[in-house]
Amino acid sequence: MSAVRPCEGASLPLSSAERFDIVIVGAGHAGDRAAEAARLANPHASIALIGDESCLPYERPPLSKGLLAHPAALLTHRRHDPAFYGDRRIGLVLGSRVVSADATQRRLVLADGRAISYDALVLATGSRPRRLALLDGLPNVHYLRTAADALALAACLRPGERLGVVGGGFIGLEVAATAARLGCSVTVMEQAPVLLGRVLPAAVSEAIRKFHEAQGISVRTGFEIESAGTDSQGALRLRSREGETHVFASVVVGIGVQPNVELAQALGLDVDDGIVVDAFGRASLPGIYAAGEVTRHPVPHAGGTARHEFWQIAEHQAFAAGSSAAGRPAEFGEMPWFWSDQGELKLQSVGTWSADAAWAMRDYGRGRLTVLAMQEGRLTGAVTLNEGRDISISKRLIAAGAAAAAHAHRFADAAVPLAALLKDVRAAAMETVT
Ligand code: FAD
Repeated sequence: MSAVRPCEGASLPLSSAERFDIVIVGAGHAGDRAAEAARLANPHASIALIGDESCLPYERPPLSKGLLAHPAALLTHRRHDPAFYGDRRIGLVLGSRVVSADATQRRLVLADGRAISYDALVLATGSRPRRLALLDGLPNVHYLRTAADALALAACLRPGERLGVVGGGFIGLEVAATAARLGCSVTVMEQAPVLLGRVLPAAVSEAIRKFHEAQGISVRTGFEIESAGTDSQGALRLRSREGETHVFASVVVGIGVQPNVELAQALGLDVDDGIVVDAFGRASLPGIYAAGEVTRHPVPHAGGTARHEFWQIAEHQAFAAGSSAAGRPAEFGEMPWFWSDQGELKLQSVGTWSADAAWAMRDYGRGRLTVLAMQEGRLTGAVTLNEGRDISISKRLIAAGAAAAAHAHRFADAAVPLAALLKDVRAAAMETVT
């Protein structure tokens, strides 16, 4: 990769030992929001935001979409200009990894040996991509998490270039769509029998597959990689268990992430596939909070807890955690929501469901689709394809506790506007009250 690095930021000069009222580890979207919220909650606190990437905090969604197609913009991609941090007296310690933490002494140590003490600690350490060991050590294999990763991948997306996408999840499909638009010859290899089958109903998976195939993307489901290597020209050769072989100039792997919980474990916090926090972002030891994608947080509308890899969590849960850490407790209780833009295909989802949910499909034609999830007699979730307008009404229907049995036939009738259903559900609720 070239020596160009994205969005360099300013770092705070630290003496050999420093103390801050609030220290936030992880200068991604969530860390940045937590710092912003902490400053709003407490104008006097000293705040440090420590991150191991060398650039100013930025948001990741554009990395697999617009910015992958316009890599020059990656160099300036950031949430705020440096002045934002100066004006708010948020000390930035960038390009620095926290390597150890001690909850009793409330002290962190950076990779270069510097120590930092805190009164309140916010862990916003996010996730890292799961690696596919079979591809380790091979050339031109990419993972996509950081702006630097996106720059490296973007350099390979030349017209006519053969790109293999391992994993037909959201990020893999977004990259596939972007690469196809740039004129690459793209093959998606998914181990499962259908795309996104663990998270979406069959009808939606099928519509997504058709969309990508219509863009010229080859979608290979049930493709389990058995062996990988390079040919005599240095191209990557991937072979499935069934003996199907593909040759690529580059491969991008999108097979999920794992939360960065090592510091939390060293601190002795409760960890369960994510740092366990309450609605205020409080972890299991006093003075320690966690923010963003690394958290396992309560999901009030569904009951229970979840770890969500969504922008929403970095934006809103992190804000609540930062505010709580600064002494103004704030609760995060939003209904889960995320989006995925795969070229012209715009997917959104709101609410929750499990594998045994029943689905009502509203097919508006021309690739516009809404599916509603029903569980235990209630509407609990919705997924839209190119029909984002249905998301906010679905959210209100879910919040209103729309009874599935009473409305199931109308849920599936695309001629009945969801807004009309919402009106009826609310009227019925009023009748029950009076
Ligand atoms: P991260 O973004 O992972 O940030 C954590 C930061 O902490 C990183 O910079 C990491 O290097 C740093 N760090 C970790 N450990 C240490 C340490 N010990 N010391 C110092 N620093 C440390 N969501 C959607 O809803 N819609 C989308 O369309 C969408 N698209 C996405 C596209 C891509 C390519 C990716 C990667 C994610 C996308 N997401 C999307 C998900 C969303 O962007 C993430 O959920 C969000 O970025 C999480 O933010 P975070 O700050 O919690 O974690």
